Amino acid sequence: MKDIEIGPIRPPSESESLLIRVTRGCHWNKCYFCGLYKSMKFSMRPLEETITDIKRQAELYQGKKFKSCFLQDGDALVLKSDYLHRILEALNKYFPDLEYITSYARADSITRKSLAELKELRQSGLNHLYCGMETGSDTILQLINKGFNADTVVKSGCMAKEAGMILSEFILLGIGGKELSDENAIQTASALNIIQPDFIRVHATGIKSESKMGELVREGSFILQSEEEIVIEQKLFLQHLHEMDSFYMNEHIINLLLEVRGNLRTEKQEMLSVIDRFLTLPPDEKLLFIIGRRLNVFFLLDDLEKPEQHRKAEECLRKILSKNPDVDFSALCNYVRQSLI
Ligand code: SF4
Repeated sequence: MKDIEIGPIRPPSESESLLIRVTRGCHWNKCYFCGLYKSMKFSMRPLEETITDIKRQAELYQGKKFKSCFLQDGDALVLKSDYLHRILEALNKYFPDLEYITSYARADSITRKSLAELKELRQSGLNHLYCGMETGSDTILQLINKGFNADTVVKSGCMAKEAGMILSEFILLGIGGKELSDENAIQTASALNIIQPDFIRVHATGIKSESKMGELVREGSFILQSEEEIVIEQKLFLQHLHEMDSFYMNEHIINLLLEVRGNLRTEKQEMLSVIDRFLTLPPDEKLLFIIGRRLNVFFLLDDLEKPEQHRKAEECLRKILSKNPDVDFSALCNYVRQSLI
């Protein structure tokens, strides 16, 4: 796509979407766990340049009916509403079939706008926000240097919902480490019970060694959880979430139990049953599943019943143990997870 600028990231659920880059990088860029835009200096793209990209993409994809457009990069809501309206106007003109215009949005960028402004943006077509709240715990938000507190998370989520937008909240399981695991589960559920977002998208934390969180791991002030402990945290989190009209999703390959997804009002018990099915496996089968999942031998718990995949996972585990009988599986699995982001 010559001369059209595309950013590096989009949510997994936007894989079929038209991508329009409105900013480069993240204006905050200081979360201790995040390396997504570390090497990129933040800038807002000049309006005319962005509109030219919209026209060029319309020429390039002539006839293709996009249902959704995602505004890149890290937080389009940081832009002034006038700027966003001009972008939305051009998108509606050149891509009249769009049903959804979506963006990442930081909680504090949402609360910096008024409810009336959010409603106007919604009316102009910006109708789905992806918010990385990560956790509902103030202690953890501070630990990861998120730059806003839980009150702002709740206020921003409620404002987006009141403006009539679809709201997805991203949650990081394991971001409190061993020490703050229960707090992460309980405080995050309690914030979400107030917000009642349309989608709760959970991701298991993968800590990169070059990040600030990686330093905390090396110093010993942040203790990584095992895969099983992260699942136990997920169980506590789900137990504390109300039965509400939110869709709960494990959608990223980084998550161990991809089958835990469903409507919280009608499928919460089924989701908890899947978690219990994993937690009650005999210890050797549990470890085998963890290793098999992390090495892409297994995708779902049912794969444990498939003899060929079972044998392959046993072989992988044997090789790991023969190289290092004292292997630290928590560190090994974190290493695999962080390589997926
Ligand atoms: S997590 Fe989001 S807000 Fe934080 S630095 Fe990364 S892109 Fe920016």
